[in-house]
Amino acid sequence: MSVAPSSRPKVLMVSPMPDWDLAPMREAYDLVDLPANGPDGLDTVADITALVTSGGRGADAALIAALPALRLIAVYGVGYDKVDLEAAARHNVAVTNTPDVLTADVADMALALALALARRVVDGDAFARSGAWAKESMPLTASVSGCKVGIVGLGRIGEAIARRFAGFDTEIGYWNRSPKPPSSWRAFPTPAALAAWADILVVAVAGGGDTVGLVDASTIAALGRDGLLVNISRGTTIDEAALIAALESGAIAGAGLDVFLNEPAIDPRFFRLGNVVLSPHQGSATMATRQAMGALVRANLAAHFAGEALPTAVVRRRK
Ligand code: NAP
Repeated sequence: MSVAPSSRPKVLMVSPMPDWDLAPMREAYDLVDLPANGPDGLDTVADITALVTSGGRGADAALIAALPALRLIAVYGVGYDKVDLEAAARHNVAVTNTPDVLTADVADMALALALALARRVVDGDAFARSGAWAKESMPLTASVSGCKVGIVGLGRIGEAIARRFAGFDTEIGYWNRSPKPPSSWRAFPTPAALAAWADILVVAVAGGGDTVGLVDASTIAALGRDGLLVNISRGTTIDEAALIAALESGAIAGAGLDVFLNEPAIDPRFFRLGNVVLSPHQGSATMATRQAMGALVRANLAAHFAGEALPTAVVRRRK
């Protein structure tokens, strides 16, 4: 007896999502995991019109080209730097992401890293647990309140970071690609000029080809021996080799990092540094935010299959 093919739409899952998203998605769609050997391992590609991927995984030109019926790439994240936008446009594929819902948590993480770094919270925890406290005092730390905070990339997350730091009576400066309306926040012409002014430099710019190494060796050096660097953007936006060299030599005081090159197999030299706080890309990783991000992915899928306007399109299809 032959079984009729499912009439439910197929959605290709390039990267996993939590069960609370998969359960409702399975009610509406046939979910197909991308095989380890890529699209060649699929039974058929003719009926795959949508795929879901993460910011870290994206969708490259080869994957897009291998799916001739593809109409939607739904990114579970705000950063779409790993999606080949040119290939998507060439094949007339829409791209959606999950903006806004994660802004607050990612901004909170930038503050958490800055505070942990300046006040040596992680070192203090180890100091108390080890019993060292009974024998000596911990070294004094650096203030965050009242310092100068420079933000590279004043987008949604950059602005949210600035607003939070303003609550610590800091001075705010920024560098942004395009001009921003006048405010009490001071605009700088280059990331290096901003770094020379700032005590803490926070990188919140989008990833992608244009921003690779935007925070270069000279910008890192301009931060100076007391300067702290925080990165919640992408590992690519900082010259990581120059950063590690500056941390090893004491050219800057420390770094709080949520993002790296080669995640999760990050450069092991980070593990030997005493002046870093390392976070395994946890910016948006709260229950509430991940649920909101999943809901947005599902809303974009539902709109796509209903032929309605996509709620959060980065790229729309041409008619
Ligand atoms: P957004 O509102 O779109 O802001 C993007 C920022 O990057 C803006 O300042 C924008 O400048 C700038 N930018 C974009 N393309 C650029 C280019 N080619 N050259 C120079 N500057 C450029 O995005 P968002 O929601 O704030 O997110 C920012 C980034 O945070 C994401 O792209 C992602 O990489 C990262 N992120 C990290 C985590 C984490 O878990 N650590 C979570 C979410 C997001 P303009 O104002 O000139 O456009």
